[in-house]
Amino acid sequence: MTLEEVIAGVGAGERRAIGRAISMVERLGPEGRELAATLHPRTGRAWRVGVTGAPGVGKSTLISALIRHLRAAGRRVAVVSVDPTSPFTRGAVLGDRIRLTDHFLDPGVFIRSMASRGHLGGLAEATADAVLVLDAAGFDVVLVETVGSGQNEVEVQTLTETVVLALMPGSGDGVQAIKAGLMEIPDVIGVTKADRPGADLLVSELANALSLVPGGPWEPPIVRVRALEDGGVVELWDEVQRHRAFLESDGRLETRRRAGLARQIRALAADRLGRRVEAAADPAFLDGLIDEILDRRIDPSGAVDRVLDRAGLS
Ligand code: GDP
Repeated sequence: MTLEEVIAGVGAGERRAIGRAISMVERLGPEGRELAATLHPRTGRAWRVGVTGAPGVGKSTLISALIRHLRAAGRRVAVVSVDPTSPFTRGAVLGDRIRLTDHFLDPGVFIRSMASRGHLGGLAEATADAVLVLDAAGFDVVLVETVGSGQNEVEVQTLTETVVLALMPGSGDGVQAIKAGLMEIPDVIGVTKADRPGADLLVSELANALSLVPGGPWEPPIVRVRALEDGGVVELWDEVQRHRAFLESDGRLETRRRAGLARQIRALAADRLGRRVEAAADPAFLDGLIDEILDRRIDPSGAVDRVLDRAGLS
């Protein structure tokens, strides 16, 4: 497929072209850049929703239930599933699981796992561009699934309008992280596996934790979800819609997007610089520099200058 064919295919919402487009942007080369720049004017219509939480909390089960709900309402849904901790194992398995079991034949659903690029880095930029491609492809909703550790390579807040945090009964550490200000306050909290004991306790702990942190005009609702039986999924999506209506009033949406873009641009620029430094500081070059330091011919800061010179950054 030529670049022109990919662009046309994305515009027409063709699955194969969309897949190709994401593979192109994942390579982070000139072709992917050109593609993203060409598609960008066609973006801005999708509602982008982050679904974040610890491994095993029930994110993919929830997403699968959300897809069923949204498809029943006639919406086209795309999912980008990101797991920075594994090159191709967990994220890919989850994406495949959702795809194969429920939505494989549905042209209104597109699911893609973003594999970590390992030492190459660049997952955040690839993910941002994948979301851009899916927005341009005309999906009504783009769900971005991330493993929430509070210090992610992929900052889901910068890519989405609404962030849903999934916590399950027994997630005391999540509550503590909110209290301690270690976790960005989500827009909607889903208490997953609410069929299990401990859900009520978690809800009250969360309400308490949220009352202790300084809040803005939006109070994050807490929704009990039993995704295995589709329970609470409609309610959760209603809260996402309510959040959307909130942002769409009083110019808040633009404020949020501007704040997200500011963070995204800074983070991706730092990421690109980091990759150039990594490429310049290859082991053989570093070994040479270290020899010189140990021979007292240069000092460590001088070695840093040499790395930056080599990366063309000085
Ligand atoms: P993820 O790693 O966050 O995507 O979590 P998964 O969606 O893969 O779910 C992890 C485990 O929790 C799986 O065994 C699910 O079947 C189970 N699970 C998910 N949702 C529910 C739920 O609503 N109730 C119960 N009891 N188990 C659930």
